[in-house]
Amino acid sequence: MAFQMNKLGALEYSTADCLEGAVHCFSTRLGGVSRDHTASLNLFASHGDTEENVRQNYRILGDAVGFVPEQTVFTKQRHTDIIRVVTKENCGEGLDREVPEICDGQITDCPGVALVTFSADCTPVLLFDPIRRAIGAVHAGWRGTAQGIAAKAVDAMVREFGCKREDIRAAIGPCISRCCFETDEDVPNALLEALGPKAVSAFIRTGEKYHVDLKSCNALWLQRAGIGELDISPDCTACDPERYWSHRRMGDLRGSLAGIIMLK
Ligand SMILES: [Zn+2]
Repeated sequence: MAFQMNKLGALEYSTADCLEGAVHCFSTRLGGVSRDHTASLNLFASHGDTEENVRQNYRILGDAVGFVPEQTVFTKQRHTDIIRVVTKENCGEGLDREVPEICDGQITDCPGVALVTFSADCTPVLLFDPIRRAIGAVHAGWRGTAQGIAAKAVDAMVREFGCKREDIRAAIGPCISRCCFETDEDVPNALLEALGPKAVSAFIRTGEKYHVDLKSCNALWLQRAGIGELDISPDCTACDPERYWSHRRMGDLRGSLAGIIMLK
C-alpha cells in the first residue's frame, strides 16, 4: 500500500492505494487557474484569490478525480476536535454559502457528498470504510493531533454508522514533516501528554528546539483506534514549495491545499 502521484496535463494530485473504491485526492498547487501567490490550484477563497477562480479550480480537480463542485462540503477549521455528521443537505456549504458551524472534521455515509479538509502544513487525514460505506475527512494540526481528532473521527464513524474499526482505512496526506516542523517544547509536551511514552520516537531535540513528526503521532492515534489499513504520504509540504503550499514557508501569501473524499 502506498501513495501515488497522478498527473493530467498540468494538474497533479496524490491518491492512496488503501482508499481505492472511494473518490478521493490530496491536491497540490499545480494545475489550476489562480494567479500570483495563489497560483495555481488554490482551493479556499481567501488570501486575495477570487471565488470564481476557486470554483474553477474545483471544477478542474473534480473533472479528473470524479466529483463536481456542487457536491463539496467545506469545514470551518479552528484547530478543534469537533467532528460533524453531514448529509446531502450540506452540499454547497463553503462554495455556495457559508459553513454554519465550526468543525475540523466531517463524516458521512451518503454517496455524492464530497468532504473537503484544508491544509498548508497541517495534517489531512481521510477515512474510508468500504464495507459499511462511510467516510471521514479530518484536519489535524499539532493542536488537533494532541486532541486525537483522527481517532475521534474513527470513534464517530463507529458510533454514528456502526462501522467496524478493523474495516476502516486511513490515509495521512502531505503535510509538514519532521525535517521542517521545528517547535518549542510546548508542542512535544502536549503530544506526549496525550499519547504517552510511545510518542517519544516522534521527536528529535536539537538544542532548545524540537523537530516533531505529526504523521507518526496521527498514525499512533489511528492504530490505537483499531483501524485496518493505513497509508502515509512521504511528502513534506515545507520541503517542496513548487508543489505544495506551506504556511511555515509562505505565511499568508499562499493558497490552500485540500484533501477530498466522496462515496460513489
Ligand atoms: Zn521538510
